[in-house]
This record gives sequence, structure tokens and C-alpha cells, in this order.
Amino acid sequence: MEFEPVIGLEIHTQLKTKTKMFCRCEIVDSNSPANSSICPICSAQPGVLPLLNKKAVEMAVKIGLAINAKINRFSVFARKNYFYPDLPKGYQISQYERPVCEDGYIMLTDKKIRIKRAHIEEDAGKSLHSIGSEQLDFTLIDLNRCGVPLVEIVTEPDISSPDEAYEFLTELKKLLRWLEISNCDMEKGELRCDVNISLRENGSKKLGRKVEIKNLNSFKAVKDSLKYEIKRQSEMIKDNKKIEQDTRTWNAQKGETISMRSKEMANDYRYFPEPDLVPLNLEQRLIDEIKQSIGKLPSQIRDEYIKKYSLKADDIEVITSNKYINSYFEKITNFTDDKNVIKNAINIINGQLLAYINENKINDEDFLTKSPDPEHIYQIADMISKNEISSAGAKKLFEQSLSMKKSPKILVDELGLKQISNTDEIEGWVKEAVEINKKAFDDFKSGNEKATGPIVGYVMKKSKGKANPVIVIDILKKL
Ligand code: ADP
Ligand code: MG
Ligand code: ZN
Repeated sequence: MEFEPVIGLEIHTQLKTKTKMFCRCEIVDSNSPANSSICPICSAQPGVLPLLNKKAVEMAVKIGLAINAKINRFSVFARKNYFYPDLPKGYQISQYERPVCEDGYIMLTDKKIRIKRAHIEEDAGKSLHSIGSEQLDFTLIDLNRCGVPLVEIVTEPDISSPDEAYEFLTELKKLLRWLEISNCDMEKGELRCDVNISLRENGSKKLGRKVEIKNLNSFKAVKDSLKYEIKRQSEMIKDNKKIEQDTRTWNAQKGETISMRSKEMANDYRYFPEPDLVPLNLEQRLIDEIKQSIGKLPSQIRDEYIKKYSLKADDIEVITSNKYINSYFEKITNFTDDKNVIKNAINIINGQLLAYINENKINDEDFLTKSPDPEHIYQIADMISKNEISSAGAKKLFEQSLSMKKSPKILVDELGLKQISNTDEIEGWVKEAVEINKKAFDDFKSGNEKATGPIVGYVMKKSKGKANPVIVIDILKKL
């Protein structure tokens, strides 16, 4: 019997608002002193009332529109009740029966992954466990994260492989970063992922019993834990063992999932409508405004580029990978619409420019200000297209224009990097070379293309490396 994995994801993304969801405490990073950004509301003092953060709602709507979801103009907050030391209220404010976004989808390369819902939620605090001796063991509570706005995105079980889960997450992350909704840094907990997985007989429509793996902290952990779980579950089925509903964690060191709680211990959150908040009633005008503000999304831009520049998807991936690289690329297109020049410019971005960005640890946000002038990239790409410089020369121009803050157009002469394309001059050298390397020339004539080495080498030496090799070969062929 062959099995097919059925996978659904639940993703929490932290919204990049200035302040928390229901109070005015500033959102601080995890290096801030514990409990340095809390107030009576987010620390759950008796008698306080939540006040909704408008920006967070707008961001949730933005996500909804970007994932092609239906925006519910009327949605309701709900209490999700459970006890945990870092949850002083004894409940999280979330949305349950009527979330703000429903029925969306994200397109992967050749598949549509439906999204069931996206709803607003607040984060809980953090427990810090000491690792002292047994007598000294204690746990401290930091409420800085209490009340930080999140959006939870829940997919339908449409994903059929670990790789597809990875692709989906990559696409979602790209979108969230594009919209400037979240940095999605998983190490900082700005994006968190739970996966649900079951197996079913190939071709069957009936869903198997799912197992949930919680708190995966990297896309790699998502992929690895899914692979492990597929193997574990199929072995169980082959051994005629029943798969129970289960919540598990991923142990990356051991490379295995471990059961946390079985069905008997499953949570019952006793959801009910939050009495301290009126239902959310969005005006169509606000939704329209948000729609306007989104502009073009990366998938749209990608399709346009494919048509306009007849480029390969791989080449386009880089220049649509984030907003900043994309506007940098757009600046280059202000100077030219020549396909060849554009192609060369993308090669420079993909190669040297990204290497430079990585080496200097430049953030995406600083891409535009800390990268070389886009006009310089255009100039180099243009000179490559016209065969005026070699690829080595192009590399040098990139480096020198950055360090000397001069345009490649000027530097190419100052540094003597222009290739010699003057046919007469080159022809003289080639003739000399042929005289000296008679054997190589004979080999070449009898069809050995590789025999040109000594001849080209001679011309390069004579021209101090500046002879255009394309022209050298042309002349050689003519001779
Ligand atoms: P629960 O009520 O247990 O949280 P939901 O219906 O909310 O379950 O689904 C949670 C996630 O689990 C969703 O992403 C959904 O796509 C996925 N899911 C649901 N049923 C299955 C299944 N049988 N196999 C794999 N994933 C599933
Ligand atoms: Mg659920
Ligand atoms: Zn607060």
C-alpha cells in the first residue's frame, strides 16, 4: 500500500507595529530588560480594559488581501482560555468563530494552497527557566511579549510533501516581508510554525488522523520533522498500529519527534466572545484604502518581468525577492530597456552585488542607501553588452567604482580597462602569433578549436590583456 502525506500549516507572524495589541506599551526586542515594557493592561491587573490597536487590524487586513482572502467586515474577538504562568489573564484574546480573513490561497509554482483563515491574536509572555542545581531551580516570568500582536494563518490540508511545505513558507515569508508586516525572523520568534500531518492511501479522499508538531523554529526543522513523521507514521501503518491524535515536538539534535500530549490531554480552550471588546466592524472605505496601499505584489511583478524582458524565472527570483532589491532594479531600468543590458545587470546583482551585501552584512532595509549607485551598475552592464570590457574588467570596475566613488564610465579609461576592439591593431598581433605558433595554427585549421590557446595567449600578452578575445577568434577564423 502506498501512502500520500497530507499536511496543513498554522503560522503565527508577529506584526511590526510600534505598540502592543491592546495597550500602548512599546514592542521591545528580546534583549530588553525583562518586564521593561509592561503596563496594567498587558500585565492583567484587575479592572483594566483592552483598547484595540488600529494599525494591527490594518496589517491583518493587508495580509488577507495579499493572500486573496475574503475580508470579513464584521468579525469577533474571542477568549481562548488556558492556564499558564506566563499568561496572567488566564486567556488569550484571539478570534474564533468569525475571523477577520477567510478562504484565501497562495499560488506555488504549480499548485494552489488554500488558506482557511487568518485571524488576529495576542502573544503570551515568556518563562525563563534557570539551570541551577536542583535546590536553586526556579522560573522567572517576563511579560514584555504579553499582548504583542500576531496574525495566525491556517492553511487547508492541501500540502503534500515536506518540500511543498518549505516552498509555501518561503512564499509566505516573502509576501509578509514585502508588505512590511513582519521581519519574519524565526530566531526572534517573529514567525512560528506548527505543522499537522497525516497519511492516507494514495488516491483516497478520506483524511487520516493527524499529528501536530508544535513550535518549529526554522523552515529546515519543518522539512526535517515532516520527513521523520512521514517515515514514522508509514511504519506504524505497515505494522498495523493505530495512529492516535497526538501533539509532538521536534528534537533537532536527535532528529526525531516526541509526544507531548495525547488526545486525553488535548486542550479545551472554552472559547467564548470577548465581552470587553465590541465586534470589529470594518468600513469598506478602509478596506479599499488598504488595497490601494498594497500596490503590486511580487508574483504580479514576476509575471510582468517574464513577459517584458523574456528572462528565466530564476533570474527574476532575485530581483523580486524583496521590495528593496526590486526598487533598486527598477532604478536601473530607468536607464535602459535593452534586454541584453538588463540581463547583464541582473547577473551583476545576482553575483557581485549580493556578495557585497552579504559580506558587509547590509540589511534589506539599507539595500538602497548602501548599495552602489544603480546608474553605475547600468553603465557596467552596458559596457559588457557592447563588448567594451571583459568580465574581469567588469568585476574590477564594480569594485573600483565602489571604493573610489567614481562612475565606471570614467574609471574604464582611467584604469585602462577598455578592451581593444580595433580590428587592424588586433589583426597585426594575430598574424605575428600565427607565425610563431605554426603548429597550433595548423591544428586549429584541421578543426581543433582548443588549439588557439598559445595564439590567443600571445595576443593577450602583446595587448596587455586588452584585446577583445571575441575579435581575436574572429580574425583567426578569417585567416
Ligand atoms: P484543530 O481543530 O485540531 O486545530 P483544524 O481543523 O483547526 O484542527 O486544523 C488545524 C490544521 O490542521 C490546519 O492547518 C488543517 O489544514 C490541518 N489538518 C486538519 N485535518 C488534517 C489531517 N487529517 N491531516 C493533516 N492536516 C490536517
Ligand atoms: Mg487549530
Ligand atoms: Zn501594556
